Amino acid sequence: MTTGYVWHERYAWHDTGTHAGLVPAGGPVQPFQNFESPESKTRFASLVEVSGLTDHLLRVPARPATEEDLLRVHSPEHVARIRALSEAGGGDGGDGWTPFGAGSYEIALLAAGGTIAATEAVLTGRADNSYALVRPPGHHAERDRGMGYCLFANIAVAVAWARAHHGVRRIAVVDYDVHHGNGTQSMFYQDPDVLTVSIHQEGLFPQRSGTFAETGKGAGAGSALNIPLPAGCGNGAYTEAFRRVVVPAVRTFAPELILVASGFDASAADPLGRMTVTTAGYRALTRQLMDVADEVCQGRLVMSHEGGYSPVYVPFCGLAVLETLSGHSTGVEDPFDGVWAASPQHPLTGWQDEVLARAEEVARGLGLICRSPDVKGNGESSTRKGSTRDH
Ligand code: ZN
Repeated sequence: MTTGYVWHERYAWHDTGTHAGLVPAGGPVQPFQNFESPESKTRFASLVEVSGLTDHLLRVPARPATEEDLLRVHSPEHVARIRALSEAGGGDGGDGWTPFGAGSYEIALLAAGGTIAATEAVLTGRADNSYALVRPPGHHAERDRGMGYCLFANIAVAVAWARAHHGVRRIAVVDYDVHHGNGTQSMFYQDPDVLTVSIHQEGLFPQRSGTFAETGKGAGAGSALNIPLPAGCGNGAYTEAFRRVVVPAVRTFAPELILVASGFDASAADPLGRMTVTTAGYRALTRQLMDVADEVCQGRLVMSHEGGYSPVYVPFCGLAVLETLSGHSTGVEDPFDGVWAASPQHPLTGWQDEVLARAEEVARGLGLICRSPDVKGNGESSTRKGSTRDH
C-alpha cells in the first residue's frame, strides 16, 4: 500500500494572531494563542517524522493552487480581497472569526494546492490513498467569503480540479470534523454528481447549519446528507453512524473518488468540540472508509486536514489515521488511551441510536440507503436500544 503524504513547513507560518482561544487580545483574560494555531499540526507532522512513518509514505510535494484553480469554486472578489489583505499585512477571512497575517494568501494557496497534489497522486496511481496535512483548513469557506478559520475551500478546489483535469465525474466528500462542512456543501448543493456527507456535533458551528433538512437543491436534490449528532458521542456512535449511514450512502452513490475532510476536533481532548472519539475510533472510521473505497472506486481515498485543536492529542489521532491508510504500524502507542479508552461515553446509547435511526430514515428517503432497515450485513437488527446504555 502506498500512501501519499503532504506537509509543508510554511503551513505553520499562517499567523492567526494573539488570542485567548477565541477572544482577541485586549479583553479581560490574559492573551494566549488562537485555538487555530500551528501547534496541533506541527506536532502531528513531528510525530509522523519521529515515529519513522515518513519512511513508509510517499512524500508528495505541496504546490500552490493557481488562481484558475480557486476560481472554479470561489468568486474573483473573494480571492482578490484575501490577496489584498494579505499583502497589506493581514485581516479577516470574512466572518470575524478568521484572522490571518501577512503572507497567508500564499500559504492558503499552498493548502489548496497541497490537497490538489494529494488528489493527483491518487488519480495518477502514484499513491493508493493520500493524506494532505494542510493549513489553513478549508471546509467552512464559502464561494464569497472565508469562515471559521478557513480562507479557501481546499477540498472543493480539489474536487473541481479533479473534474477539470482528470475527467472524474462523481465524487463523494465525507466530513468527520466536529463542525458542519457548510462551505463544501454549499458549493455542490445543486450538483448531482458530488455527494457531501457531514457528520458533526449538532448546532455547533455554524450554528443552525447542517440539519437533517439540508439535502441538496434543484438538480442536486438528494446529494447532501447531514448527520447532526448530539454532544457526548464517542467511538460507538461514530462507528455505528459510519456503518449504518455514511458507508451505505457512499456505496449507493458509487463515486469514482472519495475525499475526506479530516478534522480531529471530535476527539476526547478537543477544546472546541464536545465529543469523545479516541485514536481507536479514528482507526475504525478510516478502515470503514478504505473498505468502501475498495468496493466502489479502487480504493481511491484522499484525506485533507481540517480542524482539531488539542496540541497533544491530535498528533496521535493523525498518526492512527496515517498508520491505517498505509498499513504500517510504527509501534508508537497512544499514551492517552488509558485515560479515554475506558470512558463510559463510548458505547452507543439509546438516545444516540434514535438520532442514527433518524439519519437512516433521511438517507433512505433520499435513496442513499437502498436496503431494507431489517437487512443488515452482519445480521444485527437496525435498533440496538435493548443492548446499549441509556442515560
Ligand atoms: Zn472543526
